[in-house]
Amino acid sequence: MEPTVQSERAPFPRNMIENSLYEEESDRVDLGKNPHLHPLESDELEYEPCSSRLLVRGLGEHDLDDDEEDYESSARLLGISFMNRSSNHRSNMSGAYSHETSGGSCSVPTGRTLLVVAFVVVIILSISMVVYFLPKCTFTKEGCHKKNTTLTLVYPLATNGQVFPWPKMRLPNAVVPVHYSLTLHPNLTTVNFTGSVQINLLIMENTNNITLHASGLKITRATITPEANGHPKNVQVLEYTPHQQIAMKVNPIMSKGERYTLNLKYSANLSDGLSGFYKGIYQDKNQTRMLAATQFEPFSARRAFPCFDEPAFKATFTITIIREADHISLSNMAKNATTPVANGLYQDRFMESVKMSTYLVAFIVGNLTSISQNTSRGVTVSVYAVPNKMDQLNYALETAVKLVEFYEKFFNISYPLRKLDLVALPDFEAGAMENWGLITFREVALLYKEDTASIMDKQIITIVIAHELAHQWFGNLVTMEWWNDLWLNEGFATFMEYFSLEKVFPELQVGDHFLNSRFRAMEKDSMNSSHPLSTAVESFEQIEEMFDSISYEKGASILLMLKDFLNETILQQGITQYLKEHEYGNTKNEDLWNSIAKVASVDLNVKDMMKTWTLQTGFPLVTVKLDTTTNIIHLNQECFLRIAISQNSSSSSCCSNLWHIPLTFITSSCSDYKRPECIKKWLLKNKTDTIDLKEPSVAWVKFNVNMSGYYIVDYDKSSSEKLIVLLQNDHLAISDQDRAGLINNAFVLASAGKISVKTVLNLTSYLKYEDSPVPIVEALVQFNRIYMLIQKRGNLSLSNRVKEYIFDIFGDLIDQQTWSNNGSFSERQLRSKLLATACDLKYDSCIQNASNLFTKWMNSSDLSLLPSDLTTTIFTIGARTLEGWTFMCQMYSHLQSKTDKSKMLTAMAKTNNVHHLIWLMYNSLHHDTIRTQELPFILATSSRTPVGYLFAWDFVKENWDELIKKFHLGSFSLQTIITETTSQFSTKAHLLEVQTFFESLADKTSQLGSVKEAQEVIRLNIQWMEENMKNLDKQL
Ligand SMILES: [Zn+2]
Repeated sequence: MEPTVQSERAPFPRNMIENSLYEEESDRVDLGKNPHLHPLESDELEYEPCSSRLLVRGLGEHDLDDDEEDYESSARLLGISFMNRSSNHRSNMSGAYSHETSGGSCSVPTGRTLLVVAFVVVIILSISMVVYFLPKCTFTKEGCHKKNTTLTLVYPLATNGQVFPWPKMRLPNAVVPVHYSLTLHPNLTTVNFTGSVQINLLIMENTNNITLHASGLKITRATITPEANGHPKNVQVLEYTPHQQIAMKVNPIMSKGERYTLNLKYSANLSDGLSGFYKGIYQDKNQTRMLAATQFEPFSARRAFPCFDEPAFKATFTITIIREADHISLSNMAKNATTPVANGLYQDRFMESVKMSTYLVAFIVGNLTSISQNTSRGVTVSVYAVPNKMDQLNYALETAVKLVEFYEKFFNISYPLRKLDLVALPDFEAGAMENWGLITFREVALLYKEDTASIMDKQIITIVIAHELAHQWFGNLVTMEWWNDLWLNEGFATFMEYFSLEKVFPELQVGDHFLNSRFRAMEKDSMNSSHPLSTAVESFEQIEEMFDSISYEKGASILLMLKDFLNETILQQGITQYLKEHEYGNTKNEDLWNSIAKVASVDLNVKDMMKTWTLQTGFPLVTVKLDTTTNIIHLNQECFLRIAISQNSSSSSCCSNLWHIPLTFITSSCSDYKRPECIKKWLLKNKTDTIDLKEPSVAWVKFNVNMSGYYIVDYDKSSSEKLIVLLQNDHLAISDQDRAGLINNAFVLASAGKISVKTVLNLTSYLKYEDSPVPIVEALVQFNRIYMLIQKRGNLSLSNRVKEYIFDIFGDLIDQQTWSNNGSFSERQLRSKLLATACDLKYDSCIQNASNLFTKWMNSSDLSLLPSDLTTTIFTIGARTLEGWTFMCQMYSHLQSKTDKSKMLTAMAKTNNVHHLIWLMYNSLHHDTIRTQELPFILATSSRTPVGYLFAWDFVKENWDELIKKFHLGSFSLQTIITETTSQFSTKAHLLEVQTFFESLADKTSQLGSVKEAQEVIRLNIQWMEENMKNLDKQL
């Protein structure tokens, strides 16, 4: 699955941006004609969509009749209201406390007091009786345990009150599925489906029950047939809903080696959400139409058919779909036959599948159109979308064909199916899903419109396709045994997406994109709330939370590090070895290292090395001290954690960890990073080590060449100063990725209190001479983050000086940019990022140019007149006027291109108009003009604005119950919502507010990793402010 996709605009981590670029269709309601009431608190708020009129009780009526509305004062007004709520909460708490303790005077006991006294007496008497009747052994040293007592499992009760025969979340291994014959008839009019499944079972251990998964299915008939006699027998179905399991007791006992067939008939509703077998809606020629599609990963296959829904229970599938005449159906395999059945319906029967996990099963029914092309080996690749999008399919098809051919060659394993479909779905929560042979995508992640798409749109679509195609081998052919090793799927697919694109589409420069993702993943991984790549998980929430940037980006990063250390050919051989050794099977973490070790040098213990990266939390900080008199480098490693001082440092999750770090470095005596002989390698296994350079007078040393290692470096003062001088005098002496790395490491080390703000500013001062996007983008990310925090603390004097500093460094470069799509990928990417930042920071010429172009678009309604790389920036400025907002709302409803719409959504979410913002959030929550799948992105984007960040958090609190119905606890959507809407807080009041809110929830929310991460980020923000704001004040 690709849960995250990065927009051209925002430098968010992938898991934060997930829903970014993603479009909408206004296919539900004409809101102009049907104004709705959407309660913030239902009786407090009333608004008209796509307009400016809004009533908020307590604020009075605001009619926005000109562009000069004082947005900031509105925000402050609401911000004060928000803060008051926090402080009210605290004063209530302290009020309660003082009430209890203030009673110093005597008074007559009240009736309530007497009642309490009586209650206490009863309790004391009860305890005395219990103690009296307890066995005497209770209070002896030995206790009452009998020798040879064995612990017995507690079996739960099924829904009918009978004992359910299996007590655990994970299924027993006594019975395994061999083959499923599944028939489904979805009815898109009544929005439900009927199904029947016949599962061929093999008995692995003697047992008297069959336990498998089912959720939300009404099972109407169940029979079990022993292969030995062929006589079906009705069986009772027991259900235990907390574990989403059903079980059938079988008599007589089933013996090891026997085979049975389980037949189940059932019915269910198509799901309202975006998982299981769910309905999707779209507009076709002004008519609302419906389709039905599936999203099963990680555990929703059980909502479409009873099954052994764990990745290790691989089986083959024969799927049959009954559909209406004007629909088509698709599934993993090619269609075998279509036959007419009763009532004018048709039955499509698909070929028997290869052996695979249930989460990869998929089917779609609806009215879709497609184009196809064969690969050189004859695999038919097709791209599908709902009608009227035929002109947007070509790029995906060409790309997919090229990449399938690349992967077949690289892995030296043919794609095993006859066909491969890529389907763009209007309603889809993730970025894409790798179902074997039937990959599903959000429309914006697959459909490409040549005349209005930006260069970054093209990059992202290509990345997502490459990711999902890599899964056809990593994940589908070889699958992790359990979700604890999800990184084997996702880390590998992420690594392969970059690796393949560097080979097949080098012009897209995905390496820069990957570096940015690594930086963001390391920031998350340097907190206590992080987790090892391979982590024990069992509950639904824990499994969902594995889909995060650790599994994806950290997983990919350690493979990149390994590739550089081993070399590309050895890694390729190791991967092929792994895939061939385990094809159609399941693996654990160590299976991968064992396979690679078979082809790697005998001197290098790959398994021992990689275990330190997969089983431990976090990553190392390597301290480098160069002794210039002896030319010896002294090394030290320690776990790098950005721990807030307020936290107990002993609670650190990784303080004693050591890693086997494959270090790389260059020195001034052989500094050409393009010559392999200049890049030196050193495996640091111990806490400390020394490297004798055996070179005379080395002026400087730079570790982690091209930032391909997953570690951070802190140099001694003298070495650090020499690198700063090098940047100032000859920054091209090291690669642009290394320059970006030095910038990133400096900011991160400063946030951990390892170096001063002054050092960071000294280092970044060279940026006036920089023109490569990689270091510039990293610097913009870091400076912007500081600017946003200071701005939200209300220190306008300092935030303005930070802004001026950014303009001082980049002003000339900004002025040189043209408002066009001219130039190389690199130039276009740089222009897009620079102008986006310039306009966000209200750089005069930027605002003026963007406004002029927006007016040009309003006058012509022709989007192709705008430079597509800059459309989002132009929209963002345009949406700040009432006229612009209204126009954009109208266009949003009319445009067909998902990428165009996603740019509008970014612009709209960045509005400073509180009324528009609230409309946007509620509209998306209720899936009106804007689909609910966009809500996490809207909240994340608005959280970064000075006005939106308070509203976004308030919105989350007010609508929590609804949010967890739409997005599961632990899902990446909810992770994004939690971490992003709290990421801009930097005060103790806000920390208390966030803590109190999550602790007040009855569900398991407060245990979520994302909740812990959110609180840790606020603590780190507080700490940063306390330690660095004064220093920054002095320096700027
Ligand atoms: Zn994936």
